[in-house]
Amino acid sequence: MENKNIAFPGDIIAMEEEYLPGKNTEEYGGNIYATILGKVHRDDKNLVVSIIAENKKIKPSVGSIVYGKVIKVINKEAIIQLSAIYVNNNIYPTNVEARLRLPVQNKNAYSHIITLGDLIRGRITVTKPLYLTIFSPDLGVLKTRCLVCRKELILKNNILYCSNCQRNETRKIASDYGNINIFGGNNGRV
Ligand SMILES: [Zn+2]
Repeated sequence: MENKNIAFPGDIIAMEEEYLPGKNTEEYGGNIYATILGKVHRDDKNLVVSIIAENKKIKPSVGSIVYGKVIKVINKEAIIQLSAIYVNNNIYPTNVEARLRLPVQNKNAYSHIITLGDLIRGRITVTKPLYLTIFSPDLGVLKTRCLVCRKELILKNNILYCSNCQRNETRKIASDYGNINIFGGNNGRV
C-alpha cells in the first residue's frame, strides 16, 4: 500500500521555512500541519504545501480500506469514527461510524488491542450496519498514545514504547506503524 504521501490531521508536513501553508493546512510554532486526512502535495515552484482530498464523498463497501479514530468502546465493540476511504490510490472524505468487534473476554480487556483516540486503518467487512476489521498485518493502529502520560508511542525493537515513562504497551498495530507518512510524528495535536 502506498502510504508515504498520506498525512493525518495533526501531522507535521513541512517547516514554515520550507513551504507556505496551502489548502487544508495550518501553521503553528514553526511547523505546518495537516488539518484533514489526505495526500500531501508539495508545489516546489511556488513553495506551497497542501493536503488534497477528493471532494466527492463515496460510501464504504465491503473490502474498502478506511481510516478513522476510536471514539468509544461499548461492551465488546469499539466505535470508529471514519474520516476517509482509500480507493484506487485516492482518498475520499467520509463521516460515518463503523464498529469493530473486540475478541476479548470482558468489556474492560480491550486496551491491548486499541485504546480511545487511536488512529486506525481498517477494512470494511459488513455494510449494514458498518463493521470493519483490523486483524490482518496491514491493518490496525497507526497512532496511539501512552495510557499514563498521553505521549505518542514509538516503535522500539518492534514494541510500542513511551520514551517519557520508559515503559511498553501493546496494541494491534499495522505493519507500517511509525512510518505512515514522510515526516512521521506530530506534536500532540491529533
Ligand atoms: Zn508515557
